[in-house]
Amino acid sequence: MGGKAIRANNEPTHYRGQPGIDQPSKATESGGLVEIALPLPIDRGFTYRVSKANRVPPVGARVVVGFGRRRMVGFVVGSVAEPPRGVRLRPVLEVLDAEPVLSDTEWRLALWMARYYVAPIGLALRLFFPPGATYAVGRGEKRRAARRKERLHVLPLGPLPPKEEAERREALGSAPGQLRAWEAARLLDRPIERGDFCRRVGVSEAVLRALAGRGFLAVEPRPIVRDPLLASDAVLPVVAPEGALTGDQQGAVGTVREMLAARSGEAVLLQGVTGSGKTRVYVEAVAAALESGGRAIVLVPEIGLAAPVVSRFRDRFGDRLAVLHSGLSDGERFDAWSRIRAGEVPIVIGARSALFAPVGRADLIVVDEEHEGAYKQDETPRYHARDVAVARAALEGGVALLGSATPSLESRANAGSGKYGHLRLERRIAERPLPAVEIVSLARRRDRGGDPAKDGATQVPEPPEIVAPGLSRPLAEALEETLAAGDQALLLLNRRGFSAFVQCLDCGWVAECPACRISLTVHRDRPRLLCHYCAHDEPLPDACPECRGIRLDTRGLGTQQVERAVKDLLPGARVTRMDVDTTSAKWSHARIYRAMQEREVDVLVGTQMIAKGFDLPGVALVGVVSADTALHLPDFRASERTFQLLVQVAGRAGRGDRPGRVLVQTWLPGQSAIVAAAGHDYEGFYRHEVEQRRGLGYPPATRLANVVVSGPDEESVAGGAGAVDHYLRERRLPGLRIVGPAPCPLERLRGRTRHHLLLKADGAPVLDDALWDLARREETLLASADRLEIDRDPLSLL
Ligand SMILES: [Zn+2]
Ligand SMILES: [Zn+2]
Repeated sequence: MGGKAIRANNEPTHYRGQPGIDQPSKATESGGLVEIALPLPIDRGFTYRVSKANRVPPVGARVVVGFGRRRMVGFVVGSVAEPPRGVRLRPVLEVLDAEPVLSDTEWRLALWMARYYVAPIGLALRLFFPPGATYAVGRGEKRRAARRKERLHVLPLGPLPPKEEAERREALGSAPGQLRAWEAARLLDRPIERGDFCRRVGVSEAVLRALAGRGFLAVEPRPIVRDPLLASDAVLPVVAPEGALTGDQQGAVGTVREMLAARSGEAVLLQGVTGSGKTRVYVEAVAAALESGGRAIVLVPEIGLAAPVVSRFRDRFGDRLAVLHSGLSDGERFDAWSRIRAGEVPIVIGARSALFAPVGRADLIVVDEEHEGAYKQDETPRYHARDVAVARAALEGGVALLGSATPSLESRANAGSGKYGHLRLERRIAERPLPAVEIVSLARRRDRGGDPAKDGATQVPEPPEIVAPGLSRPLAEALEETLAAGDQALLLLNRRGFSAFVQCLDCGWVAECPACRISLTVHRDRPRLLCHYCAHDEPLPDACPECRGIRLDTRGLGTQQVERAVKDLLPGARVTRMDVDTTSAKWSHARIYRAMQEREVDVLVGTQMIAKGFDLPGVALVGVVSADTALHLPDFRASERTFQLLVQVAGRAGRGDRPGRVLVQTWLPGQSAIVAAAGHDYEGFYRHEVEQRRGLGYPPATRLANVVVSGPDEESVAGGAGAVDHYLRERRLPGLRIVGPAPCPLERLRGRTRHHLLLKADGAPVLDDALWDLARREETLLASADRLEIDRDPLSLL
């Protein structure tokens, strides 16, 4: 998890699950047998033979092989001296790369990930390639995806000697269309696609042909750049010009410069309060890396929510930036990958997978909002992009710059122990104050065990009147005042849908998902019940299926209900909602953001999406409808997540000229995360929470892995979890503690029962041992229908 710890404990040389994997710089020996890793969840390689006609491909090259009845792209991981006995070897069908595609450090990073996260090497290597480059290839289309599309482009015309220029102008005098096209081509600063050129200049292709025929213009095929973002600039937020750096910002950039020059491979935490200008530090740090010809990768939690950050980078670096995002088609992704690999763009910005962009060597890796859960991949390999960024920087002698207003406890602990450097931005830019936070307690008198008439009644006020669903009188009044002053408001409720669940008032029945054993959420846009885990969808019932009663009630607020409540309360207000249900279309986040920026929206109701990255000077009020939604989850990070969410959303207020105001409604006004968030007290929260975690044996005090056994049959799963437990206890690994086995909090998901064991260790090596042991024995410990999932450094234990 920590930078130096990773290097010390997990020197990424040999991949333990598969003996005999070489470094890519060594070419394989001749002899014609190679070991191939396939991008499949299989923890071993396969031997193939290379025909005499083919050169033996180097380690790291991609090859096409037959596997079962499929053709697949695999990776050469080593040479094989002796053919396995009794097996008829199949041939390598095609060698896609004459040279290794990955740099030496990229290859070693893949090996390290496979080992650390206990994953097949083929699945780790696959991350370094765009989808089209490793998926199964069909006959006759084997390399279609691997070729960049080319189209005819009009090339820029260089400067001409004045005499020649005058001659050409005269020669074209009788053909106004050709003259116009020729003049336009002289103004180009880069090749432009022929169709675009004709549209813009208003000439036909015949005109270009005529010009080219006279030798006045060049039209040649060039690879096309397919980036929908380039065409969607209209939705990106407008950025204001940047002023001078603050003293704190200057200091931070200076430190990063020194680290870049030292090439020490270290990580540094940039801890800056909301509105302190962290993005500006990233931009300047990237500029510093580029000055000496370096490359930079900028990671953001979700690209759709990072429009303001993308805008800043686009504004500063123009098309020296490739933006990788989920809206790209496979072809577009391949184009971006090829441009990066060819060295055409020195900066890559994107979500966690952008970390594997083929930059060769990353001088700087920025991890924005490093505490965000979106950096964790929830399928094998279950990597955390922040931790892999730290590992990559260590391997390449680069710098990992981790930024947050609310650092994860792990990162803050690493900064405290000296594993990471530590930079702070403690003031907002332009000396703006942090917004005042008021707690609105919804709780009745707290039961203190004494006589409420004696000591409780005088100290604890009656809870405020609730004037509409989700809105107390103070929050409703604050909304009215904000809108009357011409300002904007954000309302956070971290639960989408209309209501949390539907319940029968006669027998207590609650509608549950048939596959997941959790309650279904009520949605009203298109009336239905929806499972937020597996997307199971059914109509709203008219009557209780248990007792036939018709008194069905909905409980628990969702964003749809709050949106409706605000519209009813403030009929003139322009109210919009931002959650998963309203943002499924490409760039819809950016569109809503732009609408806020243009003051086309007065109140934005949303889930945690609105807490991230919004930098809107018009927002004077932030209301938290319920601070408690995550606090009751049976997860050791519940308190940390609540604190982070509250501080982040509060930080959206007061970024303009007016001081911001934040109202937090809660049933738990004394809870430590809520009290600390109201006081903008990160350090106080950190100290308190780290102590709690130490007492319970959770990170950052320990290293953790969650081992989940899942399968269709409950009895078999319980038996398998028991076998895993028994096996580990028999081994008596020193320094390893096992908690469980027990059913997971979400015991049944997508039709599978889930039981888990929690492995706690003081150091990484003992966890390495235990986890690899389990991975290798999965088949003997579990029934064939059951699966073992290993989640190292888990973010959630649900
Ligand atoms: Zn009923
Ligand atoms: Zn479900």
